[in-house]
Amino acid sequence: MAYDLLIQGGRVIDPAGSRDAMGDVAISKGRIALVADHIPAASAVRVVDATGLLVLPGLIDLHAHVFRDFTYWGVDPDLIAHNSGVTTWVDAGSAGAMTLSGFRQQVVRRTEARVKAFVNISLIGLVAPEYELSQPSWLDVDMLARALAGNLDFVVGVKVRMASPTVGSTGLLALHRALQAADEHELPLMVHISDAPPDISDVLALLRSGDIVTHCCTGGSMKLVDAAGVPLDATRAALDRGIILDVGHGAGSLNFGSAASLLSAGIMPHVISTDLHQMSLHVGSLVSSDAVDSPVIQLRADGTDDRLDLPLCMSKFLALGAPLTDVVAAATSRPAAALGLGGQIGSLRAGVPADLGLFRLVDGPVSFTDVYGNVCTGDQRLVNVATFIDGRRLADPGSADMAPWVERIPPVASDG
Ligand SMILES: [Zn+2]
Repeated sequence: MAYDLLIQGGRVIDPAGSRDAMGDVAISKGRIALVADHIPAASAVRVVDATGLLVLPGLIDLHAHVFRDFTYWGVDPDLIAHNSGVTTWVDAGSAGAMTLSGFRQQVVRRTEARVKAFVNISLIGLVAPEYELSQPSWLDVDMLARALAGNLDFVVGVKVRMASPTVGSTGLLALHRALQAADEHELPLMVHISDAPPDISDVLALLRSGDIVTHCCTGGSMKLVDAAGVPLDATRAALDRGIILDVGHGAGSLNFGSAASLLSAGIMPHVISTDLHQMSLHVGSLVSSDAVDSPVIQLRADGTDDRLDLPLCMSKFLALGAPLTDVVAAATSRPAAALGLGGQIGSLRAGVPADLGLFRLVDGPVSFTDVYGNVCTGDQRLVNVATFIDGRRLADPGSADMAPWVERIPPVASDG
């Protein structure tokens, strides 16, 4: 037999290889061996029938928080990967210099999926909900450099959260320090935006080509569009300089109005990501997000809650009118390119590790909500049906993931 596994008869969309056509994918020794219009079933030990399904490169979630058990936000990515199609998780700044080797030992080594990380410019990372940038002594570029030595195999960038609750009274100091660190190590910077101060234009003006603005569809006072929905001059200038826009849905960062304004101005976010964390896992039912240290999750009548994952975020952009191939690129080839890993992950190129997701486009009508409860209706929802890493299908680990500080309450009885 030439191949260990053959995924046959699906619609294969591989933006990195400019492919969108019915076809077959053959896997050998954990790597992609061949993508072609037809590969005979007799050539493989095992055949998966993908008729009616989309066959995509394993998704890359560019913004998630997976430092489980050691930080306020962290979730266990292995509980989510198997039915979301995500094969590479990028942690967005959960670990800082003081916790980076802990992240390596506890997360990178123990997680089934691939894990990369943006290291926080704050030495303490995101162990607590806020204020990680409020102490100038925690913004230590030299200590970060010492911590990075030996960890650059998984560190792909530097993270800084520029917003009023995180910076305290330190203004733009953390951004300057983060840029210094990113320059020294030739890494991209990921900048979180939400509520001013600082002023969004001051932040954008400092960013370099390849730096990433996450929460680009925020409805907060640092939004990238003005009150009339027109992109700011600073936004246009940043895009012209090569700044990358990332969605980072989260519990507070997707506003359909901001997203629609960007899209109608011809600005499709380069990358769609979840910002999955303890509070956003259940964003569909989060009823109290103002008190960040005591979030309350409203259960549905059947006692379950709504989970956020990357296919759901992608579905929301389909509903907003973005084309399917663009939405797939925003979760595969483009995050790979943003990490400098283009052609290594997020691609079905022959020879790369066989990371794939099989998806069904379920016909609607469907309706989605943003984090403010605004509703957007669409025709289709993307649902993952199988996820493969190194050609091996991920199994359901079958346990729940919720921190003791997240409260779940019964549903309110409906009127009728
Ligand atoms: Zn985040």
